[in-house]
Amino acid sequence: MFCRVFFKKHYGKIDFFSYLCTMKITLIAGPCSAESEEQILKTAEFLATKTSVKTLRAGVWKLRTRPGGFEGHGEKALRWLQSAKEKFGLSVAVEVTTPEHVELCSKYNIDTVWIGARTTGNPFLVQKIADSLAGSDLSVMVKNPLNPDWALWLGAIERVEEAGITNVIAVHRGFGTTQHSELRNSPMWEIPIEIKRRRPDLQIYCDPSHIAGRADLVFPVAQRALDMAMDGLMIEIHPDPKHALTDAFQQLDFSEFEKLVSQLVEKDTHGKHNELEQMRAIIDDLDEELIATLAKRMKIVEKIGEYKHEHKVSTLQMERWKKLLENRLNLGRKYNLNEEFLTALLNVIHAESLRIQGDKR
Ligand code: PEP
Ligand code: MN
Repeated sequence: MFCRVFFKKHYGKIDFFSYLCTMKITLIAGPCSAESEEQILKTAEFLATKTSVKTLRAGVWKLRTRPGGFEGHGEKALRWLQSAKEKFGLSVAVEVTTPEHVELCSKYNIDTVWIGARTTGNPFLVQKIADSLAGSDLSVMVKNPLNPDWALWLGAIERVEEAGITNVIAVHRGFGTTQHSELRNSPMWEIPIEIKRRRPDLQIYCDPSHIAGRADLVFPVAQRALDMAMDGLMIEIHPDPKHALTDAFQQLDFSEFEKLVSQLVEKDTHGKHNELEQMRAIIDDLDEELIATLAKRMKIVEKIGEYKHEHKVSTLQMERWKKLLENRLNLGRKYNLNEEFLTALLNVIHAESLRIQGDKR
């Protein structure tokens, strides 16, 4: 990065660099779970002395997908976080799943609580937590639910806002899917983008650790998050990831984290670029053509629907659909279009055509 090189060359001290040239986006880091006082203090010391991270995260209540594993140290661990805060001047963030957790967090001066993915999906629980937050000055992060439903996510955010919390932040941690991928959770960037479109005032952070699920994939996901104009990153780090009691595969050790931060490239998310504007103008025209063509196609679909109805021909014609798909995918290959994308697009168009023809009955 330019700043790093510049300061190294001119002042020789990397600490000077971190003082003057920190990242614009917010960074939160810490272990998946608070495992011991020593682990928390070590992590806090590292963050406070070697990085520009201002907030330490740690889970203290860790009900796992299946029972029987390590389930967190609870209230005891809140004391460790409180002492990390006092010793190193960091703010601290903890996951809450019940009103009792919220109450304990206030008791131990926790600064930020977050609602985890498994909780966000349940409006009953979210409402209870929101009610318990009323009147507190906690900041609240709301992770996306496990299923890719932007309305459920936004609904949880709104419940917290309606409780009078002013500092609410959305956290994108990916979605559970059955699709095979190297990643633990599918990012489905269109969902945080939809939240951003509807609520431009809202900050969205990304949690690349839970999306990646593997330490070596955290950097590419984090960089992608910056390309997607996310406002911050929450990353899991651990002094000794191999022996972590939860999420051992995805936590970075301290030097891996420093390397990741030094390699991240922040992007210009708002600037005016003439060349870009010109290319966007072409995209705008092409999109208009696409939409006009689709509308023409649907008009013919409607006519075919009338014909099928009159002549008692079934709406779905499997042989025709198979041939059409094969032919269009061949065409797509010729134009170098991604096959998965084109299949999904053709399926959506076909489903809409069937719907239109169904309405003719
Ligand atoms: C966590 O941040 O450790 C956690 C449990 O996250 P999520 O709710 O996103 O699974
Ligand atoms: Mn975790």
